[in-house]
Amino acid sequence: MSFSQTTTTCPYCGTGCSLNLIVQDGKVTGTAPYYRSPVNEGRICPKGTYCHQFIHSPDRLRKPLIRRGDIFYEADWDAALNLVAKEFSSFKPDEIAVLSSARTSNEDNYLAMKFARGVLKTRHIDHCARLCHSATMTGLSLAFGGSAMTNSIPDIGEADCIFCLGSNTFEQHPLVGRQIIRARTRGARLIYADPRHTATAIQADLFIQFYRGSDVLLLNSIMGEIIRNGWEDQQFIKERTANYEALRKVVLQKRYEPEVAGNLCGVDPDLIKTTAEWIGTAERCTILYAMGITQQNTGVDNVKSIANLMMLTGNIGRPGTGVNALRGQNNVQGACDVGCIPTQYPGYTRVTDGSAHRNLARQWGFPDGICEPKDGYDISTLFEHLKADTHEIKAMYLIGENPLVSEPDLVSVQEGIKNLEFLVVQDIFFTETCQHADVVLPAACWAEKEGTQTNTERRVQRIRQAVLPPGEAKPDSEILSLLATRMGYGDQFPYRQARDVFNEICTVIPQYRGMTWELVGRPEGVCWPCPEPGHPGTPVLYHNRFFTPDGKGAFLPVDWKEPSDLPDNKYPFRLTTGRIIWHWHAGSMTRRCKNLNDEVNEGYLEIHPEDAAKLKIRTGDMIKVSFRRGGLVCKARVVRDIKKGMTFMPFHFIERATSCQTDSSDSLCRMSEYKVAAVKIEKYTGELA
Ligand code: SF4
Repeated sequence: MSFSQTTTTCPYCGTGCSLNLIVQDGKVTGTAPYYRSPVNEGRICPKGTYCHQFIHSPDRLRKPLIRRGDIFYEADWDAALNLVAKEFSSFKPDEIAVLSSARTSNEDNYLAMKFARGVLKTRHIDHCARLCHSATMTGLSLAFGGSAMTNSIPDIGEADCIFCLGSNTFEQHPLVGRQIIRARTRGARLIYADPRHTATAIQADLFIQFYRGSDVLLLNSIMGEIIRNGWEDQQFIKERTANYEALRKVVLQKRYEPEVAGNLCGVDPDLIKTTAEWIGTAERCTILYAMGITQQNTGVDNVKSIANLMMLTGNIGRPGTGVNALRGQNNVQGACDVGCIPTQYPGYTRVTDGSAHRNLARQWGFPDGICEPKDGYDISTLFEHLKADTHEIKAMYLIGENPLVSEPDLVSVQEGIKNLEFLVVQDIFFTETCQHADVVLPAACWAEKEGTQTNTERRVQRIRQAVLPPGEAKPDSEILSLLATRMGYGDQFPYRQARDVFNEICTVIPQYRGMTWELVGRPEGVCWPCPEPGHPGTPVLYHNRFFTPDGKGAFLPVDWKEPSDLPDNKYPFRLTTGRIIWHWHAGSMTRRCKNLNDEVNEGYLEIHPEDAAKLKIRTGDMIKVSFRRGGLVCKARVVRDIKKGMTFMPFHFIERATSCQTDSSDSLCRMSEYKVAAVKIEKYTGELA
């Protein structure tokens, strides 16, 4: 019997914990702690503990599949790649779109982006960050000139005051939650704002149970109170920021006084006043947020308000402070860094910047150039075009993306996908979207390949191969290189191993320039920017200046706007969605992990006891949840933890709200409004309107 351990990084949330995979006779049989990473110091959450259980699932894809009529036939790689190469070559560049994935490595994402822009010469490359943190990218870029988390995960433990909103950190990012505990052990205060009394609320010193969708109201009210009491950091404002007077003017309006705003947010004004005092008088305050903030049609406004609050109180650029947007998926940060965004090249240069365009074209050396220097379409726009059947987008290459589960308004996505002339899906399982593919390519999962991923705190870390892929499955990078070679671009895809791709990434992205394969292989990895060899990396951003052209942070005052889908007589409840500790995103991996699935294996809706009593609903009853654009049936859970008038559904299950929520989105970043919807709740009688 052979036995070994492979140190790697967890494939789930953006925390990026390190762990060991235990390998016996070529199979991963368990996980074991790895103590040397500063991110998690040997601890992992339940998802990390059982992350090995989906690797050897019997339903992993093992061979390429080609559709003929309604039937998929197994094919060899030559036949599948030749078909894809031939079909892709038959479309004009901008008739093809590529979607890569925040679940796969930097190397896979970089090559997907290079394949799109260099081989296919299309402008249309995007990935699922659009649906989690595009509001952060837009809002923080405008305020700070950069959109990443400002401080490191261990640094959170140094704060004196932690303000957490729109993030159930102890369930979504449990090992970030550990740093909150560390800070509280040192005497720090935790303020938590959420409509639900979650696992994070249990730890809080002050809990603000407010209505989702009133975030700007709450934040403006806190800022007004800070200014009225003279708790703002005048030196920081004077030396490091611009546009302060405009902020003052907005947040000091009558409508944001705690008594007025508190009423609209559904909270006691005294809680707003205490929050203002704790944040305004703390030596080091950090703010943590996640998709509760971003997944709204005012997501960018919410993010701007958070940046305003931290600049107002001088909580930027020092240990224990900062604006810390907790990324949901393991490699959202990396997929953005390497340029899988329709408006930005690797390293966040604008695609419309002529010199960035020329540089990239020169570095890559495609003899016939690369895509046009114009913005491409984001995921939402792509599906709008597909649904409208404009014939603008005719082919799609989906790498690790399952839009038939992850996109809002699934009926429209389904209609749109049917309008494609050619669809290639590359994944580890036969997902819902594969049903509509012309070719399905089997990919290796994270435990079957080498590479790097960049966690939420900009830390680049290694993933390492523990076992061989099943059947004939291959790493995404290898598939992309084979395809590029078949399409005549072998010279531009000469990679023999993941390390070669990483070395190229370091030459293309200024923030990665000083990194080496060996450096990111150390237990602590490297936090970017690491601009030159020998640089130690940068755990805290904006120490002296922001990334804006004048080096100053910009106050971006915003007025509160109501969510687009508010309750009325017909749909009287507010619904919000989120994650639970046992599962991750659409559940394609965690639902295949027995220990996790045994904990919770179906969707449900949480409702307050007083609301449930009026509707004669008890825990376990089947209920009908009606939206303005559809409905679903699930079980009820009657819980005191949720605010009266609000309801909650986890989004990991087939009974999920995203399938019929509104099609409203943020006008700046196109983030869909997953977190606020008006619903009607009834006992299920067998009919679904
Ligand atoms: Fe994995 Fe996130 Fe859990 Fe860490 S906190 S073990 S990265 S799921």
